[in-house]
Amino acid sequence: MALSENGQIPVTTDEKMHHEEGIVIVGGGFGGLCFAAALHKVGLEAVVLEQSDKLRSEGTTIGVFSNGMRILELFDLADQFRNIYFNNSELEYLNQYGRRLTIMDLSHCEGGPHEMRCVERKVLLEAIAGQVPQGTIRLNSRVTNIKKSETSPNVTNLELEDGSTYSAKVVVGFDGVNSIVGSWLGLEKPKPIGQLEVRGMAEFHNGYNFPKFSRIFLGTTVWINIFPMTTTKVYWFVVWKGLSEGWRNITPEEIKQEVLQLTKDFQVPEFTLCVNNTSPEHFAKSTLRHRINMKPTWETQVVGNVTVCGDASHPSTPFLGQGGAMALEDAIILARKLHEALKSKESQISKVPESERIHKALLDFHRERHGRTYALSHKAYMRGVSTIADTTIKWFMRDWFFIPRAGRSGNYMEHTLFDVGKLPIDEP
Ligand SMILES: Cc1cc2nc3c(=O)[nH]c(=O)nc-3n(C[C@H](O)[C@H](O)[C@H](O)COP(=O)(O)OP(=O)(O)OC[C@H]3O[C@@H](n4cnc5c(N)ncnc54)[C@H](O)[C@@H]3O)c2cc1C
Repeated sequence: MALSENGQIPVTTDEKMHHEEGIVIVGGGFGGLCFAAALHKVGLEAVVLEQSDKLRSEGTTIGVFSNGMRILELFDLADQFRNIYFNNSELEYLNQYGRRLTIMDLSHCEGGPHEMRCVERKVLLEAIAGQVPQGTIRLNSRVTNIKKSETSPNVTNLELEDGSTYSAKVVVGFDGVNSIVGSWLGLEKPKPIGQLEVRGMAEFHNGYNFPKFSRIFLGTTVWINIFPMTTTKVYWFVVWKGLSEGWRNITPEEIKQEVLQLTKDFQVPEFTLCVNNTSPEHFAKSTLRHRINMKPTWETQVVGNVTVCGDASHPSTPFLGQGGAMALEDAIILARKLHEALKSKESQISKVPESERIHKALLDFHRERHGRTYALSHKAYMRGVSTIADTTIKWFMRDWFFIPRAGRSGNYMEHTLFDVGKLPIDEP
């Protein structure tokens, strides 16, 4: 079978076949790929069904903090990113006229030294994809329907858009905010929070001469973020209070004009420079959505041997830059649980049927994860809400109280101290 550029199998419409698999992962984003890679490391194989015809890297850039870097270390990938991307250890908050509200040296925050690197999504996805055996990632494989098998109660059937089908003992939906697996489990759709966002990556082939540390410029209902990535690349994004619908077919040029119009009252010439140095394929606009899982996820997100992880499980706003890291953490922890259920010495001698051990692993996973993902989703949402200053009192509290206090508090990076731990290695 012919392989695509990245060595994975591009399933074509003529191959309408049935596949029987142990573990099927729906979605080949950060979480799904990292989960497949972690399973492979612990001796379990899986297939990843990805709807796109290539690995999707919309959004251009992602911030990776210490907790994410520790996970990349498990795959010996961290140094490659450290060699390319800056560690943004300083963060300055300013108002829209350039008055400093606070500046923090993140390396002095409790638990430091810390890392915060803005990396290209494409580079990160390809690096993680390089950790899974060839043939694991099935591109052009959009799951359109999920059914419990009528003949084998512990098997789940997946139907794909191209007519092919999969039967699996374990189905894990790492399929993002619009998760089909989540819908099948009966989860509520994530709701818009009333804020929109445009992200871009500017390229300055001859370098740039504005500060090489992170800066956030706060207007009343619009704010700008500028995060230098390398000596030639800068990640920027702008968030504003706005209606969530009605912009779907917008072109990159229209997005650019919208951003320039929204930020015309900001006195930040380097931001305009960044926008003007961003090529059309590096603009991305999103409606920010989230769902805070009030009920315990082990009660709502596991049916038999089907579950969800990553954004499909805890879709969050991006204000802590932790969505991707939470997906990676999920991947490692669930791989550990499934190893315990299927590969550990105890599992080999266990009298408990395999399907029950898998079910328990999925429940245990959610018991372990719910507290952290709930807390981070909530904190990210609150940070977004408190940044909008559409009344004088909110503006006063934000610029004269919350932001200066955050700058002094020393625990700004607390949520990145989480250490996911190691993957088990079986004795030969
Ligand atoms: C504006 C913005 C900025 C962000 N910034 C950061 C940041 O700085 N740091 C950070 O850590 N996080 C950030 N995030 C969050 C981060 O992007 C996500 O949390 C992360 O991508 C989640 O990974 P995932 O694998 O769960 O889902 P995704 O990356 O969304 O991957 C889901 C995959 O599933 C596939 N899929 C969906 N449906 C199907 C189907 N039916 N069949 C087959 N495949 C399917 C999709 O094509 C996709 O490839 C940001 C998010 C946003 C919106």
